[in-house]
Amino acid sequence: MLATETDILRGKLKEVFGFSQFRGNQEVIIRNILNGNNTFVIMPTGAGKSLCYQLPSLVADGLAVVISPLIALMKNQVDQMNAFGVNAQFLNSTLTKTEIKRVKKACLNGEIQLLYVAPESLTKPENIEFLQNVNIAFVAVDEAHCISEWGHDFRPEYRRIKEIIAQIGDLSIIALTATATPKVQLDIQKNLNMENAHIFKSSFNRTNLYYEVRQKKHAKQQLIGFLKGHKGKSGIIYCLSRKKVEEIAEMLNVNGFNAVPYHAGLDAHIREKNQDDFLNEDIDIVVATIAFGMGIDKPDVRFVVHYDVPKSLEGYYQETGRAGRDGLEGHCLMFYSHSDINKLEKFNKDKPVQEKENSRVLLQEMSFYAESPVCRRKQLLHYFGEEFTVENCGACDNCVYPKDRFEGQKYVKMAIEAASLTGERFGLNHLVDVIRGVANQYTESYGHNKLSIFGTGDDEDKDFWKSVIRQTLMNEYLEKDIDNIGVLKVSKKGKKFLKNPESIMLAKDHEYTLGEEEEESTERVPVNVKSHDEELFILLKALRKKMADKMDLPPFVIFQDPSLEEMATTYPTTEDEMTQINGVGLGKVKKFGKDFIELIKKYVDENEIVTASNVVVKSSVNKSKLKIFIIQQIDRKIDLDEIAESKGITFDALLEEIEHICYSGTRLNLDYYTDELMDADKEDEIFQYFLNAETDSIQAALNDPNNEDYSEEELRLMRIKFMSEYAN
Ligand code: ADP
Ligand code: MG
Ligand code: ZN
Repeated sequence: MLATETDILRGKLKEVFGFSQFRGNQEVIIRNILNGNNTFVIMPTGAGKSLCYQLPSLVADGLAVVISPLIALMKNQVDQMNAFGVNAQFLNSTLTKTEIKRVKKACLNGEIQLLYVAPESLTKPENIEFLQNVNIAFVAVDEAHCISEWGHDFRPEYRRIKEIIAQIGDLSIIALTATATPKVQLDIQKNLNMENAHIFKSSFNRTNLYYEVRQKKHAKQQLIGFLKGHKGKSGIIYCLSRKKVEEIAEMLNVNGFNAVPYHAGLDAHIREKNQDDFLNEDIDIVVATIAFGMGIDKPDVRFVVHYDVPKSLEGYYQETGRAGRDGLEGHCLMFYSHSDINKLEKFNKDKPVQEKENSRVLLQEMSFYAESPVCRRKQLLHYFGEEFTVENCGACDNCVYPKDRFEGQKYVKMAIEAASLTGERFGLNHLVDVIRGVANQYTESYGHNKLSIFGTGDDEDKDFWKSVIRQTLMNEYLEKDIDNIGVLKVSKKGKKFLKNPESIMLAKDHEYTLGEEEEESTERVPVNVKSHDEELFILLKALRKKMADKMDLPPFVIFQDPSLEEMATTYPTTEDEMTQINGVGLGKVKKFGKDFIELIKKYVDENEIVTASNVVVKSSVNKSKLKIFIIQQIDRKIDLDEIAESKGITFDALLEEIEHICYSGTRLNLDYYTDELMDADKEDEIFQYFLNAETDSIQAALNDPNNEDYSEEELRLMRIKFMSEYAN
């Protein structure tokens, strides 16, 4: 039986979602919930939690109720599910009475597979009564950390979920979250009364993200420099204050970037519009406070920049986690300066003592992270209690541009000894004082100035020793005492090391100066090898955008970037070949496939690409290179005559190429050229002609008596403009 169950699940995965493999624990999790067990899923953002309740809802008897905190998030998922051909609906305050009736009826008739419910709606008595009559397979609680006051976005209504589920029936629950701290985990289990749940915690390593810290010096120039390297890509820039958000968004617009601000102080409808524009790819960049984030399910965010230093590593990790959810490139860049840390410390000044101390510790972790020469990934994972032992992750600044290393065995030994000899009851600063032989009231009152280790490391300065101790901690020779903040204890590995020291390479911390220094001349950007056909990819993206606008859907609902990249690699030209693409199920092929297949066919023909099942040979790339060249030149507003001349082709041939580009779905802005050539009235008249014409044929336009004053060239140019504005 088991084998067939596997077949059924895999079959659905391919048929509906278009994926050929489960990721990580997805399959075990799905089986667990299908077997009626309470299930607790802890996976980082972007790991694929949704599928863990979406897929079983398709095979289970009865529908899945999904409790989700944000209406935007719900709508997004419902859109995506519907695009897959799955009947998903939501119940929330945005529906009219009639719509609610319709949804409820469909649920009662067993027509719906996934019902998304806002916690506010769940608590309404009429809804509880209604749900009692529905055949429900299980309940999913997404973003389950909202239950906990310790989580970063606590929602009081979430606390009532268990009580209400109990009223509806004896249902198994799957709770999902990306918050990893043990405290929140415990809170969730207690509140949902699922201490017996099977827990599935997966690694928090996001292998496709590149982590980088740069010293903040001329931050605005630095930011623009970075963004120039990421033109046209989606990204988020986090700032700490609303004022800064507005300022940076404005500065970016002035510099030709397509950016909007987002913070809690903006009108709700502006916030919503800015968010939608971002999702719909009408704008590239959101500059935001941390108010922007959860519920942003945009899979192709290519960079997350922290313009200001974040308040904690946990927050930093969640925010960077929004990059590269589709598994492709995600660049996480933080600008770091001591003065940011000082500023944040000042904000904490008026907090109650305990809270102030907690905030201080969090900030200290933050600056350790930034200044440390240790692999960023190793540090982040260490923070979440995960050991990362890969020597060089290859995707962080500290690994790609390693600092000089030195043999650290003797220093590490001293660090462990200092902790051990002082009774494993002290923190980093005290251990540094002991090693360096600093006589102060603490070292003296504990008698630590009498220890053999006292003063043995006075050749090196304070920062050196702080760094050594942190690296000793990062390598698990020391460990943090869970009950006493800041206290360092010797781990098992550390005890072993004392008996039998091994070689350990260390590096010095980054020295971030306060003064203004020369800018680094070279951009430190990881090399990115592209294997797909970028020109086709651009065309596919343009087509997707066109369809998305027409259907009023975010583009990624149609196909996601990895699918388009794959299409631009394997050139599928039949429905069958199309379903082979990852992320493309049969439902999607039927719904959206046709235009894409046609586009690819045309492209393959034009560029004389030979596609034979798996062997793909591009025999001629010249033609496509010319097109890219033209698009780039037009982007730079180069005179058309000049473009033709530089490529040694006639103006007519150039126009023909441009028409091609335009008809394949790429939007070209020729205003700079046509505005020079014609006066506004003339432009407007031709434009009006095409707007009302029955055909876009140039011959027909020439034959029209109203057009007798216009040349063929003018008509063709305006037709391009018209097509760009209306069809692309
Ligand atoms: P999470 O809720 O864990 O943050 P999502 O459920 O939004 O993540 O999924 C993130 C991305 O991973 C989505 O774009 C989704 O389509 C993709 N994904 C999920 N499962 C798979 C899989 N088995 N194979 C390939 N991609 C997947
Ligand atoms: Mg999710
Ligand atoms: Zn690394």
